[in-house]
Amino acid sequence: MSYQVDENGYYGTFGGTYVPEILYKTVEDLRKAYLPIMESEDFQREFRSLLRDYVGRPSPLYYARRMSEKYGCQLYLKREDLNHTGAHKINNAIGQILIAKKMGKKRIVAETGAGQHGVATATVCALMDMPCRVYMGALDVERQRPNVERMKMLGAEVYPVQSGNKTLKDATNEAIRDWCCHPSDTFYIIGSTVGPHPYPDMVARLQSIISEEIKWQLQEKVGRDYPDYLMACVGGGSNAAGTIYHYLDDERVTLVLGEAGGLGYDTEQTAASLTIGSVGILHGSRIKLMQTEDGQIVEPYSISAGLDYPGTGPLHCNLAEQGRARILPVNDDEALRAAFELTRMEGIIPALESSHALAMLPRLQHLFKPSDVVVLTVSGRGDKDLETYLKHKDDVQL
Ligand SMILES: *Cc1c(COP(=O)(O)O)cnc(C)c1O
Repeated sequence: MSYQVDENGYYGTFGGTYVPEILYKTVEDLRKAYLPIMESEDFQREFRSLLRDYVGRPSPLYYARRMSEKYGCQLYLKREDLNHTGAHKINNAIGQILIAKKMGKKRIVAETGAGQHGVATATVCALMDMPCRVYMGALDVERQRPNVERMKMLGAEVYPVQSGNKTLKDATNEAIRDWCCHPSDTFYIIGSTVGPHPYPDMVARLQSIISEEIKWQLQEKVGRDYPDYLMACVGGGSNAAGTIYHYLDDERVTLVLGEAGGLGYDTEQTAASLTIGSVGILHGSRIKLMQTEDGQIVEPYSISAGLDYPGTGPLHCNLAEQGRARILPVNDDEALRAAFELTRMEGIIPALESSHALAMLPRLQHLFKPSDVVVLTVSGRGDKDLETYLKHKDDVQL
């Protein structure tokens, strides 16, 4: 058995392609095209050269000495925070715009929550001279001013979405609606391992550059190409998918994923969909999501805008269901504490999302042996979160 996608677009019972009739041909065209394009020499040459010279890859695998001592293991941080535009999202955006160009598409749409995927998409659209519209909940437009200004400066049109709760889920609905109206000339760049097949697999493959690098970097640094533990945070699941991709079927590696507990997974203020969600269909895919008994989406909550999504991608739903990955809901206060700890102990200010991965270290400490190699992905940098950090700095006990 494999944890990779099967030929019908399923991970176990999760995934699939639940799209309206009008999108059927568009999604089918993409399904037929994505692997031949991604495996072509042309694509690989262009993708790899942009990752190197534009994004700044390979991202370092950094041995965190003080944190290793504290947690009693050999802790290595995979530094996606050092990428151009400040997070892992650019890996995916570059890959998808190259696929869009190869498919002859003329226009790009995207959804964004915190604005990180919007900025990454606006960036690659500037680079490739493609018109770009980013759908963003009107509430998020208010909350994430600097990223809105960045997208505009990059030449994207930011479209505030007034429906629903005016956040990420509503922006995604609107982006899908746009795509339905312009299926032949428009490419929808989805920001995570969500959406109808082939998106989760396509995004996971594009982000798998992370685990590809971890393999040779570990070989160089510790003399074997696999760690004992891999840790990452999960919103839709893309940085986690990239981190674990080449180790999915390698049972020597324990996978630990941190999702947003908010104020607690047993409260109404949470986004811990793998922990408390139930099976349903959202944005084209069968996944675990937060919903009422009659199937209405429950509004998620997390201090971190990038984890504030009511579901999780199908790959991760299956890993959780099969027990292949351990899922820990991490609360706001734990994430804040972890952010200050990394900042003070290693001089790295992480994104709030990434802090949810770091906050799992104290929870796993009792399992670690001193020789255990632990690789944790720092998915992004914390500049965008400074205001939140400063607001809470007096609540945090180090
Ligand atoms: C968007 C984002 C995430 C969450 O998205 P995934 O698809 O789950 O990776 C995590 N970290 C950062 C820095 C982000 O910008």
